[in-house]
Amino acid sequence: MVPRPRDLPSADLELIGGVLAREPRALAKTITLIESTHGDHQARAQAVLEALLAHAGGSIRIGISGAPGAGKSTFIEALGLHVIARGHRVAVLAVDPSSSISGGSILGDKTRMEKLSMEPAAFIRPSPSGGSLGGVTEKTRETILACEAAGFDVVIVETVGVGQSEIAVAGMVDVFALLQLPNAGDDLQAMKKGIVELADIIAINKADIDPRAAQRAMRHFEGAAAMLRSASPRWRVPVLAVSALEASGIDRFWAEVERYRTAMTESGEFEAKRRHQAVGWMWTLIESELGARFRHHPQVRRDLEKVSRAVEAGGMTPAAAAHRLLGYMNENP
Ligand code: GDP
Repeated sequence: MVPRPRDLPSADLELIGGVLAREPRALAKTITLIESTHGDHQARAQAVLEALLAHAGGSIRIGISGAPGAGKSTFIEALGLHVIARGHRVAVLAVDPSSSISGGSILGDKTRMEKLSMEPAAFIRPSPSGGSLGGVTEKTRETILACEAAGFDVVIVETVGVGQSEIAVAGMVDVFALLQLPNAGDDLQAMKKGIVELADIIAINKADIDPRAAQRAMRHFEGAAAMLRSASPRWRVPVLAVSALEASGIDRFWAEVERYRTAMTESGEFEAKRRHQAVGWMWTLIESELGARFRHHPQVRRDLEKVSRAVEAGGMTPAAAAHRLLGYMNENP
């Protein structure tokens, strides 16, 4: 059972008060609590989140994906500074443990988002280290809520263009943007992996290096995007040429984000997507909890290896094995 806010220890009430008062330290501490794998901390984190939930939801959540070196950090810094200049407050989170703002690079590599990190209206948080992708994304979803409760009205989630992380991030943001480089190799890679299908906005970065190549890439992606079924009949995926380094095209990118939000809000799709994501998240949590309970069940633990070996050796069908192991869940340990 999650304790009621009024029953919370004073330290947690202070955290809640601090987050709502927009104190960065309180937010950082809350996120540390959210990221903790300690059972005790997890219960506390859930109680704190429950108290914050009524104050969450007020941001535009933007996913930024792209291969390492595509310029995500540079782009996010330029975008962050752009929106801060327009009076917004921006939180930047990373999903992959391998991502450019994690792995100690915020502390170790001072050149990364250096200007943005000095802005009082910015909050930058590296990816939680360790754990499975599922675990990391679960924490990131909750971290988004905490950032919103702390008054950040733009939340940017960065993810590296590899593996399952795009799908996970696309499932937690309102608008998903893909950063590409103007060369065919990358284009093909993104298409093959189906990432283009997830994109609501495509930005060809480093257009300053070779503007003509960027134009070619734009046409290429426009063709691909036109062939794909867009997530909404009201939205045609725009393809932009930008230079994160020179901060050019950033204004157009932000304008597209705002246009997207307006169009989706008017049609009701904005809220519908969030509701759908929330239910999807609930199922992810149920499935992961069921999996954990299964693996921790004493009889499963006793029998799992033997049964796995029998399946490997062909002495038992996978279906019979699964039936037998799952059957233990119905018995008291
Ligand atoms: P990330 O790995 O995707 O986060 O990429 P970074 O933001 O670290 O950028 C990788 C390299 O590309 C860095 O040396 C950046 O300075 C450079 N870079 C990023 N954006 C641009 C751009 O628009 N133009 C040029 N010429 N270089 C860029």
